[in-house]
Amino acid sequence: MTKRVFSFGGGDAEGSAAQAALLGGKGANLAEMCRLGLNVPPGFTLTTDVGLEYRRLNGYPPCLETEVAVHLARLEALTGLAFGDAGRPLLLSVRSGARVSMPGMMDTVLNLGLNDETVRGLARLSGDERFAWDSYRRFIQMYADIVLGLGHHHFEDILVALKGPGADGTLTAEDCRRLSGDYLALVEAETGQPFPQDPRRQLWGAIGAVFASWDNARAVTYRRLNAIPDTLGTAVTVQAMVFGNRDGCSATGVAFTRNPSTGAREVFGEYLPNAQGEDVVAGLRTPLFLTEAGRRTAMSEAPSMEEAMPGPYQELMQALQLLERHYRDMQEVEFTVQQGKLWVLQTRTAKRGINAALKIAVAMADDGWISRDEAILRVDPMGLDQLLHDYLDPDAPRDVVTRGLPASPGAASGRIVFTSDEAEERAARGQNVILVRVETSPEDVHGMHAARGILTSRGGMTSHAAVVARGMGRACVCGAAAMRIDMEARTLTCMDRVFKDGDTLTIDGSTGEVMAGFVPALAPELTGDFATLMGWADSRRRLGVRANAETPEDVETALRFGAEGIGLCRTEHMFFDAERIIAVREMILAETPAGRRAALDKIAPMQKGDFVRIFEIMKGRPVTIRLLDPPLHEFLPDDEADLAALARELGVEPRQMLRRARELREINPILGHRGCRLGISYPEIYEMQARAIFEAALEVKLATGDTVVPEIMVPLVSSRSELDVLKARIDAMAAEIGARGHDIPYLVGTMIELPRAALTAASIAEVAEFFSFGTNDLTQSTYGISRDDSAGFMADYLRQGVYGKDPFMSLDQEGVGALVRMGVEGGRAARPGIKLGISGEHGGDPASIRFFEQLKLDHVSCSPYRVPIARLAAARAALGG
Ligand code: ADP
Ligand code: MG
Ligand code: MG
Repeated sequence: MTKRVFSFGGGDAEGSAAQAALLGGKGANLAEMCRLGLNVPPGFTLTTDVGLEYRRLNGYPPCLETEVAVHLARLEALTGLAFGDAGRPLLLSVRSGARVSMPGMMDTVLNLGLNDETVRGLARLSGDERFAWDSYRRFIQMYADIVLGLGHHHFEDILVALKGPGADGTLTAEDCRRLSGDYLALVEAETGQPFPQDPRRQLWGAIGAVFASWDNARAVTYRRLNAIPDTLGTAVTVQAMVFGNRDGCSATGVAFTRNPSTGAREVFGEYLPNAQGEDVVAGLRTPLFLTEAGRRTAMSEAPSMEEAMPGPYQELMQALQLLERHYRDMQEVEFTVQQGKLWVLQTRTAKRGINAALKIAVAMADDGWISRDEAILRVDPMGLDQLLHDYLDPDAPRDVVTRGLPASPGAASGRIVFTSDEAEERAARGQNVILVRVETSPEDVHGMHAARGILTSRGGMTSHAAVVARGMGRACVCGAAAMRIDMEARTLTCMDRVFKDGDTLTIDGSTGEVMAGFVPALAPELTGDFATLMGWADSRRRLGVRANAETPEDVETALRFGAEGIGLCRTEHMFFDAERIIAVREMILAETPAGRRAALDKIAPMQKGDFVRIFEIMKGRPVTIRLLDPPLHEFLPDDEADLAALARELGVEPRQMLRRARELREINPILGHRGCRLGISYPEIYEMQARAIFEAALEVKLATGDTVVPEIMVPLVSSRSELDVLKARIDAMAAEIGARGHDIPYLVGTMIELPRAALTAASIAEVAEFFSFGTNDLTQSTYGISRDDSAGFMADYLRQGVYGKDPFMSLDQEGVGALVRMGVEGGRAARPGIKLGISGEHGGDPASIRFFEQLKLDHVSCSPYRVPIARLAAARAALGG
């Protein structure tokens, strides 16, 4: 028989940290902490398999009840209490726990086992009426919310009616008793059933609800955003309660073994005296600082735990040290102090900002705790994105209107919005928005995702807003308590300054400052831990990393970010310049080769100049130049009146102009007369470009001594015959220059971006000396959709999960990936050792890079800002990560 329930506590455990898949992260770590000898309330864990069985059967598997009864009896023996006993009631928490931590996404019920009788027993046993009734009213509310589906607001309305807002900590015994009575009445009125008084019914109700919370909307959204499979399921841990709301010598809190924003080697945390469970995490009361250092930095008056509870504080410090050492990573630890005694309730690998991730990975490798390879595997490449973007110009004037906690580093400017739906809508329309909320809840995840930054007036560094923003890499300032939010009027008031919906604010998540208006930002310095870790990554990766760039600025940025070459220099981007476009239009409208040549003669020197500048910057590094591949009509105005005006300017017949524009307009927008087809129809264009490339290479070589080996890439080839024609012409251009006594080394290759090219790769490779897989167009032509459709039906498809992940972001490995594989195999069969690269956004996508590493491509090429991400991802792929 498979074991469905694992116990822990009393100095031992049946499970361990290695069993996270079966016991969930929480259950597995609770077991591990018991084995380590930490003070953990005893309990037992129902496995994720039971969770999946529950989901499948839509109920409990047989025999589960007997198994649970055995473990419950053990719990009673360990605690000396009895479940449901009015004299010595054992109270339980019922906690969710998936394999990967999903903070705050699923549900937990505390104080289970209380009813009208046991609450009196608890009061007698503890000698404290307030504590007993406080626990009861909390339990009724949580149980009603999670198991019976009655929202918190019902209860909060009653609480506010009784005591006004924010009065949680000041409730008397009488208040709590009245609240409990009112809550029970509310439940009966709303559900038509009395609140369940039988502790066993309560227990099974709660276990079922926690299993079911795996499929609640916010958990589903979180999994989708974090690519966590739905099939993992959750475990449920049932644990004896300890009480942070017992008295003034009790507390509850959260501690990080290092600073989660900076990664500095200092404990950081928050606590609330005389409080329970979710009070800290939910941001309902603003918590106090754990350490004196933290309190002083924040200039808080309220006593730190270090000062107020020195005994438990020291015990906590020892536990934190032990846990960090044991897990060899920064931990986030939840704890409760009951009457001066410390209990550890949870430990997990702490979420951290990218700066902290880099600092911690490098520090732990330097200290010999982990290897450099492990350090590389600990940093999420996508997180680097934040570092590569801007931070606020320290010299720019800042109109600081208020301050909050620096909850998630980075700076953001944008228009303020007050709801998550609006944040999503306006971001979809291309606006930068700052989401302003009193506090966030899991229902806000989509808005937080869409926003550039998040600003809250309530909650601490471990509030939902802070934790989720750090995870998503959004700038966040939280707990800006001096600011007032009026949801009705949609205004934000700081002192006497009022900001309306749509006004621009800037937040600095590294300092906590909130500023009026737009504040300019600067590019980051790529030194320190970043440079160290990237150096380690470079020594590990096999894939080369190039950039897609054609302007001198982009080429320089790419080099600064560590690109080893240019994998895609698109020449069509060079022709949209105001001074050039006229000549291009003349060329397009020319009716004869001679006319075209005359126009091209005007463009040639500029084109050569472009290449000279790029070759100079690249100092002999490889540069792949793609010959012209434009939809030609894009060079002509859309509008008839504009066309007529242009005709006058160029001195051509307006009627001729219209006819030509119509001819050029793509009938088949995917292919039409593009790429090499254009080159075959109008030989002069590619001839001009090839000559410009060779002359530029020669000029740079003579001037600097750097040997440039241009890689000339023919776009949109679908068969060998096309390349035969064009390669002959390119070779002829080279021969012309060779005849002048200069030998220029060069390669001619092609972009594989059509399914037919992938299918006929073997014969194309007989001519092509290299391939670059253009995965954007290959995705487009394989799916028959354009990237721009992402805004329309494509977005809808993605929302409905029809296409799974966006194939333009992460390579679709079954369809497009199969074509790439075919192209690779064909190319290598015909030309062993053929140079293979990829260009397109997939070159900067870690999941796609893993696939390209499997195919053993030579390099990936991506936009300059993605280069560091690609370098790190390539190293991780080489390490099997
Ligand atoms: P989450 O997964 O959302 O962190 P938890 O299961 O950790 O949910 O429960 C939330 C909070 O409830 C904990 O941080 C802790 O403060 C409190 N809690 C859970 N179990 C117990 C317990 N046995 N005794 C006291 N408090 C508990
Ligand atoms: Mg927790
Ligand atoms: Mg293309």
